[in-house]
Amino acid sequence: MEEICIQQPRRVSGSIMKYKIRTLQRKADKEFSRYVKLNQCDNSGYCTCCTCGRTFLWTEIDAGHYVGRACIPLRYDEMNVHPQCKYCNRFREGMKDEYALFLIKTYGEDILNELHQKKYSVGKLTHEDYQELYEMYKEKSNALQGEKEL
Ligand SMILES: [Zn+2]
Repeated sequence: MEEICIQQPRRVSGSIMKYKIRTLQRKADKEFSRYVKLNQCDNSGYCTCCTCGRTFLWTEIDAGHYVGRACIPLRYDEMNVHPQCKYCNRFREGMKDEYALFLIKTYGEDILNELHQKKYSVGKLTHEDYQELYEMYKEKSNALQGEKEL
């Protein structure tokens, strides 16, 4: 059964309403991706590709989604997104089998079920949600970048 979550209408400040939702989504995507890479890289800035195991500088790797970005409930889910090399992510269709094995190894056997359930939850984000995601991940990314001196 799908769980329908009904959100209370919120007041959205005029300043962010002037942006198209796509613009805010792009900004949130960019900071979330930056966060995923900075969070998982070592102190020299190197990340390991979750599907082929090769290492790359954090600025030269993608943040690859297991369940694709079109699925809004998992678009910003930290268990669904990990550093992945551009080759695996863009040219090998995300290496979904290897990705699944990586997820099970990292989070345990229930992870695929968990992600699958979230996939079908209601996932509409508002202007304000995107703005909040953008601000939160920007702040977290800046903090990590400072800590790791990258
Ligand atoms: Zn790879």
